[in-house]
Amino acid sequence: MRLNPFNTGNINVRSSGGGGGVPGGKAGGIGCGTIVIAAVGYFVFGLDPMQTAGMVEGVQQGQQQAGPANTNEQEICTSSEYAREACNGLQSLNQTWAGTFEAQGYGDQFRQPTLDLFRNGQVATQGCGSATSAAGPFYCPADQTIYIDTSFYDTLERQLGAGGDFARYYVLAHEYGHHIQTITGISSQIRSAQQQNPSRANQLQVLMELQADCYAGVWAGKNRNLIEPGDIEEGMQAAAAIGDDRLTGGRVSSENFTHGTSQQRSDALRLGLQGDDRACDRITNIG
Ligand SMILES: [Zn+2]
Repeated sequence: MRLNPFNTGNINVRSSGGGGGVPGGKAGGIGCGTIVIAAVGYFVFGLDPMQTAGMVEGVQQGQQQAGPANTNEQEICTSSEYAREACNGLQSLNQTWAGTFEAQGYGDQFRQPTLDLFRNGQVATQGCGSATSAAGPFYCPADQTIYIDTSFYDTLERQLGAGGDFARYYVLAHEYGHHIQTITGISSQIRSAQQQNPSRANQLQVLMELQADCYAGVWAGKNRNLIEPGDIEEGMQAAAAIGDDRLTGGRVSSENFTHGTSQQRSDALRLGLQGDDRACDRITNIG
């Protein structure tokens, strides 16, 4: 996509990820690829936030000291091509969603999320405990922040076969979709439906994820004039690459089925690309 370069002061970015080491040598439990998100976060792939929260609750919290976050926007956003791209994407997402809320009369509900960009490290989040790069990109509702370790983009391209700028924008826009769900209250509605009906928890989780995919499509659909040849294909490739069936080699069970199949994820993105967010809203209408 041909996005405009971000303007200073237009976006909220910080970088709180370390270089990978665990401070103070208190490595017990961290650093073996273990995910230690202690509160619920929404992931782009792979993890069931419900299970994750249950697994680590109260165990790992507080082991990693959070260093001071870098909030120098220029430094963060120009630190790599990925970072620059993400900052441009964030500005565009802010503008598109602020405009959408405004147009529908909910302008006062809109709040920008923060983007926390780091590389090859662990991150001590402000609201969701700590996580390693293995968690992949995620959104933490408690601090309304999207966390992206940019090394995930290498994984996406080299291991999952989904390269290209639009594939990366899709990941960012999906996490942004979880922010939209948070500020509209859809997340908390789903969360309480899950608590009332645990046997449907995974199914509801899948609907949340598909809606976030759909919202990602809406952003792109509303910026159709900026889409370049090949972008849509890159997005579809990425959506398919992070489908539950693809990631598990077809061994999908109710426990690991949390984000939808490759087909469902591509369909949700395609639905969103028509540019109508209300079509996405219907995904979580569970009656
Ligand atoms: Zn997600």
